[in-house]
Amino acid sequence: MKYDDQCAPPPKITGKDTTLSSSARTISSVRTTNTESGKKSHKSRFVNIFGKSKSSKRDKHEDGLSARSLYSPGKSESAYSGSVFSENVSIVSSVTASNALRVLIVGGSVSGIYLTKYLERKCGSGVKITILEQNENILLKFGAFAAAMDPTLAPHLIIGNKNMFKYSHNEVIKSTATSITPEYVETQDGKTIYYDVLVIASGSRYSSPCEIVGKGSVETKENLKTYFKYLQTSKSLVIIGGGASGIELALRVVKENLLNKITLIHDESMILNEEYPESYRNKIQKKLENEGIELILNDKAKIESGKNYGYPIKGRWLETESGKMVFSDMQVDCTGPVGNSEFVKSLNNDLMKVVDEERGFIRVNRYLQIIGQTKIFAIGDCNNICGIKTIDRAKSQAETVSETIHNWQVQFAEGKSYLEENPQVWTIDSNEAYMSIKNNELDEVRKASSTNHRLLNEAISKKAPPEITTRKADNIKQIYKVIGVEFKNRSAF
Ligand SMILES: Cc1cc2nc3c(=O)[nH]c(=O)nc-3n(C[C@H](O)[C@H](O)[C@H](O)COP(=O)(O)OP(=O)(O)OC[C@H]3O[C@@H](n4cnc5c(N)ncnc54)[C@H](O)[C@@H]3O)c2cc1C
Repeated sequence: MKYDDQCAPPPKITGKDTTLSSSARTISSVRTTNTESGKKSHKSRFVNIFGKSKSSKRDKHEDGLSARSLYSPGKSESAYSGSVFSENVSIVSSVTASNALRVLIVGGSVSGIYLTKYLERKCGSGVKITILEQNENILLKFGAFAAAMDPTLAPHLIIGNKNMFKYSHNEVIKSTATSITPEYVETQDGKTIYYDVLVIASGSRYSSPCEIVGKGSVETKENLKTYFKYLQTSKSLVIIGGGASGIELALRVVKENLLNKITLIHDESMILNEEYPESYRNKIQKKLENEGIELILNDKAKIESGKNYGYPIKGRWLETESGKMVFSDMQVDCTGPVGNSEFVKSLNNDLMKVVDEERGFIRVNRYLQIIGQTKIFAIGDCNNICGIKTIDRAKSQAETVSETIHNWQVQFAEGKSYLEENPQVWTIDSNEAYMSIKNNELDEVRKASSTNHRLLNEAISKKAPPEITTRKADNIKQIYKVIGVEFKNRSAF
């Protein structure tokens, strides 16, 4: 068999076939094996680049303190034994207070880290933070394409998150959330974790190489290294999707002078989308054309979204909806992420779907509460707020929710009914965001009667969309300092 289940069957070429793209080549010229015989000058760059993960395994000790249990709903259980008590934390909490508000965060990457940082700063030991993270190490995915060009960056992007807390009673549990209720979260390994406030920060899935491979850092580093090797030795690349990440990849490849042929397929008449000003779209499109990138616009690749198309790397034929056939040595699916939200669907009911069915993003209101819920929030890439999803946005949403939790924690500590305190409104950053929140709220049956659109209108502050950059290594390391060091060095909090 000459093609796998991701390949379009090779076209039958009879005489002059006008449906073939100019980049189509014969299958015999394809490298289908991972050869070490790439350009010699690059060989030394990736030898010994990937060292062992630095993430340390810390011993877990029971702190023996009276804490409200995470594993039972009761308010004064003392059975909890999961707190991390370590010499690595800078403040060893003398108590995990029985009146600490239990905040459970699903997802320990960018949004989860920022939220933790704000909560520890604002609430101190008044909250007990538990992060539920499915992977042993996390990948700061915004740097993945840069690391595929320069694998020495990988160690800056793959980090463990066990040492991130300032307070010893906070902890990370390594498991996958499988379902949630208004009281607890269930995990793949059979735990039931109770909470007072739940924040979903589970992000979204991209295609390779922008995802963790396996559970650890070793495979992910190997994967980035493999992309690096193939980018040095392949002749052609097809990028599916002309959004920010597809364009970033294309520009990086031309900047590094790699590959003979780059084809970018996009389903609109211009690259990017209406979230970007037309003048900016025009400017970037001209730049791509001037760099010799072949643009196939107003057309769709026949691939299944969310299925990691193009992985593993191999030569494949690709068919577009208009019937074009393109052959390439490598393909990268940049058609946009899919929300990590399977486990949230347990909140769906007859009146309301809390997860948008098309791409799996979680529907929230202006307070970032999941629609229909009071004490469950969704922040960062996992929510369905339209507009460009960025680290800044994740950070600002984490800050908003931390304000709400702080106010609630004060009420809670005084024995008051904390959920009656009004939550904070997130400062909406674009018209697209405004429209999506408004639509969500119109469906939010519980709040329908009290929805005040004047307040929503006031919450909007229009910002220019961020420009697409091919960050230099130094910039990536700078971001790592801001985010990564917070994991390792509590003084950064
Ligand atoms: C190629 C690329 C380039 C980018 N460039 C930029 C840029 O230049 N500037 C910028 O600001 N942003 C950029 N971004 C976007 C940025 O990376 C995201 O906005 C940011 O990563 C969002 O963080 P998050 O924590 O919300 O989600 P994620 O980073 O997706 O993290 C979610 C975490 O939740 C965990 N998780 C998921 N499901 C579960 C579960 N069921 N149980 C337990 N844990 C779970 C995951 O393992 C993961 O660790 C880029 C993204 C990509 C892919």
